[in-house]
Amino acid sequence: MSKRIRIIEGTWNCSSCDTKGIPARHKRCPKCNNPRELTDQESEFDFGETDAKTGRSLREGVTDTQTLELAQAGADWFCAYCGASNRGDQVLCKQCNAERTQDARALQEQALPGPRPRPAPPKGASKKSPLPRVLMVLGGGLFFCCFGTMIYGVWMTQTQDYPGQIVGTEWKRTLLQERFSPVTLQGWQDELSPQPPRMPVNGEGEAAGVQNIRDCVSSRRGSRQVANGTHRVCRTKTRRKACGTEEQCETRDKGNGFREEVCKDVTRYCDESYEDCRNETRYRDEPVYARRCSYDTYQWKEVARRETSGRDGEPPRWPELAVTPEDRLKREEQYTLHIEYGAPERKQAPLELKTEQEFLAWKKGQSVSVTATHGGDIKQILPR
Ligand SMILES: [Zn+2]
Ligand SMILES: [Zn+2]
Repeated sequence: MSKRIRIIEGTWNCSSCDTKGIPARHKRCPKCNNPRELTDQESEFDFGETDAKTGRSLREGVTDTQTLELAQAGADWFCAYCGASNRGDQVLCKQCNAERTQDARALQEQALPGPRPRPAPPKGASKKSPLPRVLMVLGGGLFFCCFGTMIYGVWMTQTQDYPGQIVGTEWKRTLLQERFSPVTLQGWQDELSPQPPRMPVNGEGEAAGVQNIRDCVSSRRGSRQVANGTHRVCRTKTRRKACGTEEQCETRDKGNGFREEVCKDVTRYCDESYEDCRNETRYRDEPVYARRCSYDTYQWKEVARRETSGRDGEPPRWPELAVTPEDRLKREEQYTLHIEYGAPERKQAPLELKTEQEFLAWKKGQSVSVTATHGGDIKQILPR
């Protein structure tokens, strides 16, 4: 991409005779002959407006060789004795003939006092406006609400020790008599293979078996997805696309009232919308059928249930049940202590124990130390 380089000439204003817009090539005012000096008004150049989009200067570029040579002479220097501006390639001041020393602009900057103290803010300015204060109160409320819920949750599961007493004991025992009995079930033909049953001995070693597979009928087993043609789906999308070029300019100050401007053409990008179309497979549910049959097998069935219970010191015992050798027995037992604890308000809660041995260690009326959560769950009791 080709570069276009131009030299743009700045202008300055004479503070002695008030002439405006003097081209930078004049180091002296063409009207009053005063040299350009290091003052706020004279030391800065004006380069006019630039195009907002490209940054290109609206001024014509310099073309004559003499001025172009001046632009390449380096940054101007200001005489430390008389303050006049001089060409960068000159060693003696054109005004007072003094030798070039350190630049007066640099000296001026050195002589500047340190950072000026900031003006104190007006009274009352440090007070915050009422809005953030309201937000702070709201935020605080929200914080305590959520945090409070969390704290409450933790508090509910935390434990504390209380004096307490066993106010009751209770046990319950159940015997379940089960018999391996013939049943008719249904199953999918491909999952059934004939097998003889085996009867249990002392409630063990049985096999259910599969016998007499019969009455098979076609039945819906489920469904599967099958492709059902395609359909065309289009979506509007956007993409970036090169769409021609645009000019971009950068400038570099040469420190002597001239600027070098470099313009080049760069690729411009635009958003382009397009239709993205593709074929998508459509699916439909198709029922799946299989053959379902009846068959004979065996299952454990409850034939009798006996329950005994007792409380407050009555010793636990099993119910009586006459059992044949092919039957099996299931035993269920439940042991509960009723505990009252806490002062001044008394709470009551049950405590389940796992074994008879544990249960028999406690007696009604016994004083205990209770470890319970604030939520009312008893975690542990100890004799007191
Ligand atoms: Zn002048
Ligand atoms: Zn001088």
